[in-house]
Amino acid sequence: MTNGVTHSIIGGLSGLAVSIFDTDDQGRSIHNPVVAVAAGTFFGTLPDILEPALRNPHHRQFSHSFTVLVALGYGLKKVYKWQPKDNIDEVLRGFMLCAGVAYISHLLLDASTPRSLPLLGKIQISQ
Ligand SMILES: [Zn+2]
Repeated sequence: MTNGVTHSIIGGLSGLAVSIFDTDDQGRSIHNPVVAVAAGTFFGTLPDILEPALRNPHHRQFSHSFTVLVALGYGLKKVYKWQPKDNIDEVLRGFMLCAGVAYISHLLLDASTPRSLPLLGKIQISQ
């Protein structure tokens, strides 16, 4: 079973992988690896922050769904192909890539468990 520490580590490594493999035309890294790891660590745990387990075995709902996984994958492809024209957009692109890949890493880890992910799930608003 995957726990919060595993999601943090895999999310951080996902952000680091983006910072290593997403390079410019000359093969130079275009991301700050520290920011990439920090963003990956946070976004790798975000689904369980939005829908915490708290002794609820059915906590995986919309934020943990295959629908979100597919939508994020599609969005990430668009962001990956985006060619920003200024520095602010470049930073935004890098942040979105690290965050999105880390979030997807969480969903893939959860999908590999016996409970897997719901197709759609319920939208929950925690109080
Ligand atoms: Zn989860």
